[in-house]
Amino acid sequence: MIRINTIKQMREKSKEFHQNGQSIGFVATMGYLHEGHLQLVNNARKENDIVVVSIFVNPLQFNQTSDLTSYPKDLERDAELLEAAGVDIVFHPTVEEMYPKQSVIQMSLLARQDVLCGASRPGHFEGVLKVLSKLFIIIQPTKTYFGLKDAQQVAVVDALIEDLNYDITLVPIPTERESDGLAMSSRNVRLSAAERKEAPNIYQALKAGQHFIQSNESWSRDQVIDHVKHRLQERVSAEIDYVDCLTYPDLLPLIKESDSIIIAVAVHYKEARLIDNLILNQSGEEIYRGEE
Ligand code: AMP
Repeated sequence: MIRINTIKQMREKSKEFHQNGQSIGFVATMGYLHEGHLQLVNNARKENDIVVVSIFVNPLQFNQTSDLTSYPKDLERDAELLEAAGVDIVFHPTVEEMYPKQSVIQMSLLARQDVLCGASRPGHFEGVLKVLSKLFIIIQPTKTYFGLKDAQQVAVVDALIEDLNYDITLVPIPTERESDGLAMSSRNVRLSAAERKEAPNIYQALKAGQHFIQSNESWSRDQVIDHVKHRLQERVSAEIDYVDCLTYPDLLPLIKESDSIIIAVAVHYKEARLIDNLILNQSGEEIYRGEE
């Protein structure tokens, strides 16, 4: 496995791979890796000649300085995990390398952003768009792998690739969970023991919403939101940031019969904001399902 921290060297490598006719699978991460990230890597490994993983904590997508400065880091451990997973290149540029001077171009969204995390984290998806556009241009991936735990991000990347005609296939990967159902996240280490114990109830609340849809043919969006919210309020001490039920991937509130839907939740514990979701068809069956 090669570690690269300059854009120039990364570009040269990508060029070389393409000249050799090798496909490149790319996974973008902010490091402090867990089994969820490794699922993306494993899928990339299966489907491509070369696997590139980026580790870059992108300051542009953090709207709270405290979240950025306390974001967990362990590059050596990450590198060991990636080497063991058969990754070819880890690209870990510095902030100065990625943003050497005041930017002239800012990217923004006309849809898919005024809801969920886009509404509660102003500027977040602009930052995501900017860094991913740069990484896609530098790395030139054939396929790129994103986790559905961040389902709005998948919807935004889907739009980025389509709108800007990137010649990249987006592969969404189901959410990897702990054995008690909690969605894996680098931020879970910031939960206290008591918070960690009750946090699986976030997933249980989503499942309750799914069950409500499955057992009520004429369910409405408001009823689903109320049902999930109620369940959360009963069993989770964290402050609720949002509970919503929208079409997926367009993230619109008006749900038609043919639409796929997302039930999504974000909560704030003292030191960690956690998100989770389920993506369902109209009968309440999960569309993307991980291995149980
Ligand atoms: P992050 O390092 O949090 O930016 O995440 C990097 C990638 O890993 C993103 O595509 C995430 O959606 C994905 N990811 C994070 N947690 C999980 C999980 N529990 N299951 C599947 N993918 C995940």
